Amino acid sequence: MPTALRICPLCEATCGLTLTLDGTRVTGARGDRDDVFSQGFICPKGASFGELDADPDRLRAPLVRRADGTLAEAGWEEAFDLIARRLPPLVERHGADAVGVVLGNPNVHTMAGALYPPVLLGALRTRSLFTASTLDQMPKHVSSGLMFGDPFAIPVPDLDRTAHLLVIGANPLESNGSLCTAPDFPGKLKALRKRGGTLTVVDPRRTRTARLADRHVAVRPGTDALLLAALVHVLYEEGLTDLGALAAHVQGVEEVEAAVRDFTPETVAGACDVDAGTIRALARELAAAPAAAVYGRVGGSTVAYGTLTNWLVDVLNVLTGNLDRPGGALFPLSATVPAPRPAGPGKGFALGRWTSRVSGHPEAKGELPMAALAEEIETPGEGRIRALVAIAANPVLSAPDGDRLDRALGALDFMVSVDPYLNETSRHADVILPPPPPAQSAHFDFAFNGFAVRNQVRYTPAPVPLEPGRMDECEIHARLILAATGMHGAAPHTVDDMVIARTLARVVTEPHSPAHGQDPQEYAVRLTGRTGAERRLDLMLRLGPYGLTLDRLRAHPHGIDLGPLEPRVPQVLKTRSGRVELLPEPVAADLPRLREALSAPGDSLVLVGRRHLRSNNSWMHNVPTLNSGTNTCTLQVHPEDADRLGLTDGGTARVKAEGGELRVPVEVTDAVRPGVVSIPHGWGHDRPGTRMAVAAGRPGVNVNQLLDGSRLDPLSGTAVLNGFPVRVAPAS
Ligand code: SF4
Repeated sequence: MPTALRICPLCEATCGLTLTLDGTRVTGARGDRDDVFSQGFICPKGASFGELDADPDRLRAPLVRRADGTLAEAGWEEAFDLIARRLPPLVERHGADAVGVVLGNPNVHTMAGALYPPVLLGALRTRSLFTASTLDQMPKHVSSGLMFGDPFAIPVPDLDRTAHLLVIGANPLESNGSLCTAPDFPGKLKALRKRGGTLTVVDPRRTRTARLADRHVAVRPGTDALLLAALVHVLYEEGLTDLGALAAHVQGVEEVEAAVRDFTPETVAGACDVDAGTIRALARELAAAPAAAVYGRVGGSTVAYGTLTNWLVDVLNVLTGNLDRPGGALFPLSATVPAPRPAGPGKGFALGRWTSRVSGHPEAKGELPMAALAEEIETPGEGRIRALVAIAANPVLSAPDGDRLDRALGALDFMVSVDPYLNETSRHADVILPPPPPAQSAHFDFAFNGFAVRNQVRYTPAPVPLEPGRMDECEIHARLILAATGMHGAAPHTVDDMVIARTLARVVTEPHSPAHGQDPQEYAVRLTGRTGAERRLDLMLRLGPYGLTLDRLRAHPHGIDLGPLEPRVPQVLKTRSGRVELLPEPVAADLPRLREALSAPGDSLVLVGRRHLRSNNSWMHNVPTLNSGTNTCTLQVHPEDADRLGLTDGGTARVKAEGGELRVPVEVTDAVRPGVVSIPHGWGHDRPGTRMAVAAGRPGVNVNQLLDGSRLDPLSGTAVLNGFPVRVAPAS
């Protein structure tokens, strides 16, 4: 059987796969043992690549809304003609912000999703941008932006060399890692323990990761920031801070000491439900380890104090001397970021350069909170969002109060979805542009190489040719940009040529660039690649820190290992001071809110989400192998709570919160701590008008329907999806 290589796009681990092919059909997938990064690792999602690729519910041609309101198959020309006819006049009449753009997280798993949406946004000049980041990871971007001057400068734990890992609100045994790209994360945790290192997990659930840990701290949900502030307090109080080589590059150390003075272990113990002795032990273990890393993820981000939690994660890394040192938390250096500029003061990172129209939410990283999308569509007035471009996004399931958003999308003047499925969100579109299955697309990880635990680079061309009638995903994006911005009919490579010309015009003037002083046109002619996207990749590689080319990458089909992560401070810093700013002003201004939490009465029952190995948000519920067996969309409840509330295992519960009510099967388990219930996210495939037969057959419930969208982390605009109060009773 012929085989072909393909980097797996189904989670952040980016494993290399070997696909077996029967003609253009993918008949199997196994881990590529020669892959320089993943070395043969594969999980059940990757193993189902062929099934996902061949899903009969995937759209094969564009859908266009007809005069009778139905969606029907159409040709590509007709689809782009309609966009060109409807979208630019709306912008002309109502202004750029009247077009909203929604980017879902699969965008970062495709080449097209990384290369073209920034061009679309630049061309549309809209400030109405909403992405999955404000449902997930914006607190990390904001804390990194404020501390390091760059929202993408995210330190990752040096998993292969650390001696102590403190994990907050992350479950990499199910997620395979997030904002920390590491194939075989489970194996790396086991290796850590095998070499004598220690693993501590802070999580209200005894997750699979927690079961592997030396110490599991079942903290009360939403109180991680209090717990971490107390750890920082102990470091100062007991003289355990030691910044090592980093000291010369950090400002604000004394200010942080003053800022956490109130957060003693004894003061936070009640709110966190963790005894003060344990908190002191956690701090001492962290300080004593020869090399340690603190790593926090979704559970500490999608909470009321998400930015503070993420800030404290890196404050701990800094104060224990573990930031930017081997075995600690290091900044990866991706092959496609511009070659590093010399160290020195940068532009810094600003929050709130503009605010949302209706509720005045400050922007973060140019984005507005996804939780505010519905009101921006519904509320009349100047600047109302009248048209939407949704790319690989299903906010009806992923954002709070999907019912409201569902209604709002129905009121739009015009909507385009780039999506392989007719799903809960795309069913509102006037045009759906379906990308081809992944086996028909080339792959390069622009985003995840920047969060990888080892520097490496890999490129896989499309394993099989495009089926007749399909359009390459990059071409879809390029044509969408042209149609949406009055250039309909121009050749798709026009977009790439424009980006290349603009980039070269800039970099030839930058003294630190490898292209400095060269002629932009001559440089452009040297670029290789069969498509505009490949030429752009070639350009980025050439301008990157390793001086690579696409040809060189092609000559190494299993990738090129670029070595372990290395210290990058101070060069990586782009703060105005040129130093790590340990207590940024917006963080200091938010600390009184955290202080108030010390005396706030805790909620008696709160809800948290959870992740399952066979799922990734809402994307993979239409794959029979992944959506089969025992129902995983259940309400997990501790036996004590089940007794108190009259719930029985296998029965049905009624769960109520400020946004709505759900009926959900009960799973009684002591894997959740008392006072906490858990429902996974991404489910609720029971709306009419979709075309996802497998998902609709096992729809589950949409946990986000319990929220009304009013709970946000104020600094990042991220929705509070974890640790919110609920009332639970048996369903009659
Ligand atoms: S761990 Fe992630 S990248 Fe690796 S095979 Fe599984 S889904 Fe694919």
